Amino acid sequence: MKFADLIEQNIEELATLEAINGGKLFSLCKFMEVPGAAMTLRYYAGAADKIYGTVLKLSKGLQGYTLREPIGVVGAILPWNFPTSMFFIKAAPALAAGCTMVIKPAEQTPLSALYYAHLAKLAGIPDGVLNVVNGFGETAGAAISSHMDIDKVSFTGSTEVGRKIMMAAAASNLKPVSLELGGKSPLLIFDDADVDEAAKFAFNGIFTSKGEICVASSRIYVQEGIYDKIVNKLIEKANAWVVGDSFDPQVNQGPQTNKNQFEKILSYIEHGKREGATLLTGGNSIGQKGYYIQPTIFADVKEDMIIAKEEILGPVMSLKFKTMEEAIKRANDTTYGLAAGVITKDLNVANTVSRSVRAGVVWINCYLLLDVGCPYGGYKMSGFGRENGMDSLNEYLQTKSVVTPILDSPW
Ligand code: NAD
Repeated sequence: MKFADLIEQNIEELATLEAINGGKLFSLCKFMEVPGAAMTLRYYAGAADKIYGTVLKLSKGLQGYTLREPIGVVGAILPWNFPTSMFFIKAAPALAAGCTMVIKPAEQTPLSALYYAHLAKLAGIPDGVLNVVNGFGETAGAAISSHMDIDKVSFTGSTEVGRKIMMAAAASNLKPVSLELGGKSPLLIFDDADVDEAAKFAFNGIFTSKGEICVASSRIYVQEGIYDKIVNKLIEKANAWVVGDSFDPQVNQGPQTNKNQFEKILSYIEHGKREGATLLTGGNSIGQKGYYIQPTIFADVKEDMIIAKEEILGPVMSLKFKTMEEAIKRANDTTYGLAAGVITKDLNVANTVSRSVRAGVVWINCYLLLDVGCPYGGYKMSGFGRENGMDSLNEYLQTKSVVTPILDSPW
């Protein structure tokens, strides 16, 4: 609770640091990501004294109960796109469960985690309980996943690195891992949707935080009857979208996190053009300096095109369309399964889609609404394990059965 208070007391400085860290909008950091950290800490602080086992029903002459014990030393390996949220989505439940931790932030965004370590000390967390070690993946990250004294790895990042971490865990002490990996999330918009609302969800679903969101609505399926209207609205929104300095309150989108990511996005855009997708708007970098990219929208994208299959993590959206059955089939035609959305007034359609799409979270008539109380994680190659909600505590606990005979049992 005190850690959360300290975050709120230092919110301006933390939001500034986070905006410098990865080029995120200062306002998004100040009003969403950093306050979200305090909220997450309080949620799990409230749960810390409500972790208990059960009394077991055993055979005659035996009594038993379970203890819920901390799993031990947790290694947390973080991505660069949400340095604050990812830090606390792991640290808050792990600490509440009674674990100690080694946290390795992404090498691209090392700053805010150091400040959080400093605040943890001020909050009275004992030395050695929450440790931050900055470093590169192949060295610091690999040392965590292959370490014999680390009891669990909680990883968020790419599917490719998740696979390496699982292999290193298997080859060392067989530590359990939880993997929150990439996505290529579909948003299905049906003919009966309100055009303005649907376009808003679709647009914000990917262009918020410059597209560097694992659950970004990067595949939009729009039904034929509404397709032209949605496309026009999206282009209108893209043209009004201001890209520039993260500290300027008029700006909607800051620079991409680093040069690597900037170049990767531009090369995906080139792939899209070469493969025959229609570029509706954007497609270029902005200015001579910094990693700024125009919000980019493609139409006529087919499932076998690279821009429809691979996670871009940039302001690039692809548009497609048709009937419900076809849309569900195409929505599931991906190796990922992180998130999905459906916009419709028809309850049957909403229910059918949300039960049919294989994804860890499905948003109905909204998009990107995450809450600390809502368990979150991947299907398929988006990983396994759940973060947020009470489910997350289970990732950091293990169950011990304690059994004893009842010698004077009347049985
Ligand atoms: P990444 O996989 O390249 O790196 C993630 C972390 O792994 C970094 O800290 C890196 O140093 C470390 N790492 C790299 N190689 C390693 C190795 N061999 N052993 C151990 N650690 C190693 O991912 P990224 O580019 O930083 O992050 C973007 C990815 O994260 C995207 O795929 C995005 O979708 C995903 N992501 C997922 C979620 C989610 O909740 N599912 C949330 C945010 C981001």
